[in-house]
Amino acid sequence: MPYFGVHESISNGFDGAVRTVAANGFQCLQIFSANASRWNNKAIEPGAAKKFQDAMTDAGIVMPLIHDSYLINLASVNPELLEKSIAAFTEELKRAHALGVPKVVMHPGSAKDDTRENGLARVAKSFDSIFNATPDVNVKVLLETTAGQGSYLGATFAELEAIIAASDYPDRFGVCFDTCHAFVAGYDISTRDAYDAVFDEFDRVLGLDRLEAFHLNDTVKGLGSHLDRHAHIGEGALGLEPFRLIVNDERFKETPMYLETPKAQTEDGESWDVVNLRRLKELIA
Ligand SMILES: [Zn+2]
Ligand SMILES: [Zn+2]
Repeated sequence: MPYFGVHESISNGFDGAVRTVAANGFQCLQIFSANASRWNNKAIEPGAAKKFQDAMTDAGIVMPLIHDSYLINLASVNPELLEKSIAAFTEELKRAHALGVPKVVMHPGSAKDDTRENGLARVAKSFDSIFNATPDVNVKVLLETTAGQGSYLGATFAELEAIIAASDYPDRFGVCFDTCHAFVAGYDISTRDAYDAVFDEFDRVLGLDRLEAFHLNDTVKGLGSHLDRHAHIGEGALGLEPFRLIVNDERFKETPMYLETPKAQTEDGESWDVVNLRRLKELIA
């Protein structure tokens, strides 16, 4: 059985998020470690980390993951925004460290008004200055495959590899494969043959050992559309087949898989997270 997780709000505290995902039947969780649409956030309060860790132990939740703030752009050409982004991502790593969360997943950013090549180099340089400034923080960064809308970087495996290869700290990186993003970026995973070809390419370019997490989302928009709209499992352009292939893939049986599907409730008053989890489990052979 794969490790299934879900993104959960911390509005009821870090420990509250743990209890919610456990009650919904998950084994893993992804959270924002602060308000994801604000630049300045407080450090983690001392008691919060212990409550979070205790809640995970009690509920049997493993492999927690933090998603970085959407404001951060480590590829920015604007020096002021770049500086703010570097400071904010440094805080992301410090909060993860304080909470005892080993990995932070992030979107590489956008290099508007510059070449993609320069943008990727700037992301690597930004990471190096962050890692240089935090020698005692041992948190890994998962670069997420993105939809590649406009000037957003990270839509190809080669772009993610370029960031890792240009960094002085290649061992600090893993990759998070988002099914919605990869598909709209042009990676067809909807049939067995296409799926095999995509993960062969991933292995060739990045190495499957770098694949440390999945985001399992269906997509409203189609292959190559570069539009990022998540849909419930099996209800979008992907359908159930790619999820069947992933959850039964022996290579990924230790790789945590997090839902980032729309929240709210179904017409029957059930949590959509519960419904999507049930759909994934039903696909397991
Ligand atoms: Zn994602
Ligand atoms: Zn997305």
